[in-house]
Amino acid sequence: MECTKQLLSADSCKPKPDDESKLGFGQIFCDHMFLMDYDQGAWRDARIMPYGPLSLDPAALVLHYGQEVFEGLKAYRGVDGGVYMFRPQANLERMNRSNRRMCIPELPLEETLEHLFELVKTEHEWIPTLEGTSLYIRPTVIATEACLGVKVSSSYLYYVIMGPVGAYYPEGFNPVKIYVEENYVRAAAGGVGEAKTMGNYAASLLAAEEAHAKGFTQVLWLDACDKKSIEEVGTMNMFFVIDGEVITSPLTGSILPGITRDSVITLCKHWGLNITERKLTIDEVIAAQEAGKLTEAFGTGTAAVISPVGSIHYRGSDITVGDGQTGEISQRLYDGLTGIQLGKLEDPFGWVVKVK
Ligand SMILES: *Cc1c(COP(=O)(O)O)cnc(C)c1O
Repeated sequence: MECTKQLLSADSCKPKPDDESKLGFGQIFCDHMFLMDYDQGAWRDARIMPYGPLSLDPAALVLHYGQEVFEGLKAYRGVDGGVYMFRPQANLERMNRSNRRMCIPELPLEETLEHLFELVKTEHEWIPTLEGTSLYIRPTVIATEACLGVKVSSSYLYYVIMGPVGAYYPEGFNPVKIYVEENYVRAAAGGVGEAKTMGNYAASLLAAEEAHAKGFTQVLWLDACDKKSIEEVGTMNMFFVIDGEVITSPLTGSILPGITRDSVITLCKHWGLNITERKLTIDEVIAAQEAGKLTEAFGTGTAAVISPVGSIHYRGSDITVGDGQTGEISQRLYDGLTGIQLGKLEDPFGWVVKVK
């Protein structure tokens, strides 16, 4: 499918941010976006257009019943000046799995990937160069049919917006304090927790607000049934290191199958670490801490890559993880993954794609 382009003239483009140390996250957008429509059974009209508001019928199904899916990935300026992306195919494959769960027609993988590369190439001057910065890419599909009856939409819009984002850790790693949530649940088995779809995030806002008010950065979700097994954090999968074993929850259906999670598992195996995907209860974490065996905990996700956890708050007490500082494995994984992403380290798994 050809992609048509309607580009702004150079003098109507926005100025690029001049201080790359103050980019923040998700507030600055590139000059152009990609759009493609679905109706009458086919994806059509792939186009790159100036970034701007969408026109939607107020009855569009996405606005009422949340038939939507999104993705999050990054493009980097490599150490050689080239433009690189990290496992973009894995993001599109996950998007299609999310689409299936939300009754949204799948995207043609190869073409959608080509269109993504085309958009990144068009906007390559927006990729920041300061260490730790990148271009964040947000592919999204929304149900556009105007109808107030609950149903599967017959038409959709797939669009991609992008913008430069800052270093997640301007002063290096800062271990976060997380709050173990027992009143609310994020997702139950059989629900939509494993799909990257808007409702999961709306469902988590109140718990996050309450945790912030108590001074915690993130909520740690337990399983919806027994409220014992550790699931994940708001936008990150969780790993614990207990007595030399690196542990993460298996993909039970209520957990988002993170690409960073998968990359961390692969790297740990490659390094010969003892890594297991198994059920881990909050009680086991507490017992391990009391026995002095809980050495590290960290979250994984595209935005932060690795986010060390310094303490976990459960039923009124703070459980300190290790010495409360960034652990050795967390640091090694951060350096390993970002090194591969920027082309500083060898990429034995073929994860990095050179776009330009
Ligand atoms: C996106 C996301 C993650 C992390 O996935 P990555 O592919 O590693 O970025 C983890 N949990 C939730 C709920 C997410 O939405």
